[in-house]
Amino acid sequence: MDQVVEPELLADAAQRAQRYLRGVTARRVSPDIEAVERLAELGGPLPDRATADEEVLRLLDEVGSPATMASAGGRYFGLVIGGALPVTVAANWLATAWDQNAAMRLTSPVAAQLEDIALEWLKQLFELPGSTGGAFVTGASMASFTALAAARQAILARVGWDADARGLFGAPPIRVVVGDEVHVTVLKALTLLGFGRDTLIRVPVDGQGRMQADALPALDDRTIVCIQAGNVNTGAFDPAEMICRQASAAGAWVHVDGAFGMWAACAPRRAHLTAGVPLADSWATDAHKWLNTPYDCGIALVREPEHLRRAMTASAAYLQASDQREASQLNPELSRRARAVEVWAAIRSLGRDGIADLVERTCSHASKLAERLSAAGFAVLNDVVINQVLVAGESDEATDRMIAEIQRDGTCWCGGTTWQGRRAMRVSVSSWATTDEDMEMSFDAMMRLGRAAGAVGRSPSLA
Ligand SMILES: *Cc1c(COP(=O)(O)O)cnc(C)c1O
Repeated sequence: MDQVVEPELLADAAQRAQRYLRGVTARRVSPDIEAVERLAELGGPLPDRATADEEVLRLLDEVGSPATMASAGGRYFGLVIGGALPVTVAANWLATAWDQNAAMRLTSPVAAQLEDIALEWLKQLFELPGSTGGAFVTGASMASFTALAAARQAILARVGWDADARGLFGAPPIRVVVGDEVHVTVLKALTLLGFGRDTLIRVPVDGQGRMQADALPALDDRTIVCIQAGNVNTGAFDPAEMICRQASAAGAWVHVDGAFGMWAACAPRRAHLTAGVPLADSWATDAHKWLNTPYDCGIALVREPEHLRRAMTASAAYLQASDQREASQLNPELSRRARAVEVWAAIRSLGRDGIADLVERTCSHASKLAERLSAAGFAVLNDVVINQVLVAGESDEATDRMIAEIQRDGTCWCGGTTWQGRRAMRVSVSSWATTDEDMEMSFDAMMRLGRAAGAVGRSPSLA
């Protein structure tokens, strides 16, 4: 017998989602104040009685949809967000209907198989060693936590300390080296793992935020070096090749935060930036950023997955052991959604060429925008090597006024940052959906609002 589902409910959801996505290009990027205020209508007293399913969905769409950030469209340039490829949205709907628990092969053969396949494809895309294993987690934050747990395990095991049995208090010290521009989520992962913030050895960076390899301290086999592929502000890459060679000679562990930058390896014209990255011991990346899968999906990758397994294994009589890859033995979590589904769908649909095109296209939008803004009198503070642009006006105050005006105006959305002492607007072009027209509209808005904010004068060519 068919399961009883309101026959129209899922079709209604699909229709509402389609209407939402059709409208996302025309609407303002941030929701207006009234839409956000209306969200209160979703609350009220705890309902005592049932509400019809279609009514619940109607309420969610009518009140919820207008209060979204239109990051599924082509003119959201905040953080490093990306959109969601249509095939990944559709695959996500189907997989949600499956309602699989991706904990074990036993709880979901299909989730386990898709993780195996997606991992294999990711290793090829990033040119990682064949031995590499990994885990699908919520994002790059959790991926760094997971990979660094493996690093900690590996080093303590090497010195004969069983941290599982004896804990960390009293354990032989591990040195951790980071760049001055280390991402805040790597610091968080390190502190969750018991590495105190003040004990980290910080390496100075250059004007793009790259670690200065000649300023590395002496490394040894009790050291973890955290480098990044893709600085969140400039998009710059630490000199992975030099650092990995030094680390490898000394027996140190190198972890790469490549939340979005890892994907540069997929585009022939950008791949030189990731030279040496495959020489590391572990990597953290995201699918929900540059691969454009729906939230949430990050991936932890470890050259010798045995260290990951030792760090993450939990055994109990009711958890059946097997000799195949078991996610529950490699992940911090037991129950999880099957997030490899969308990674598989994205790679299956785009192929190597399509991923290269997605990366190259977004990079080229970013570099064209940078050229035009710079020609119009703005200061571009970074070398635009991938998809990130840092734009500054004539003063910090004017830059901040411009950012506020752009966010209020709604044509596009950009956030702010402070780059080496100077306020800047961050433009991150990460979405498959961004078109030339989106970039044109956004440039026009930046010029109009930049001038109004006094961030840029009237250059002769535009007067
Ligand atoms: C986004 C980002 C992270 C964190 O990733 P989440 O997916 O948000 O957990 C870490 N490092 C860099 C460089 C990032 O851009």
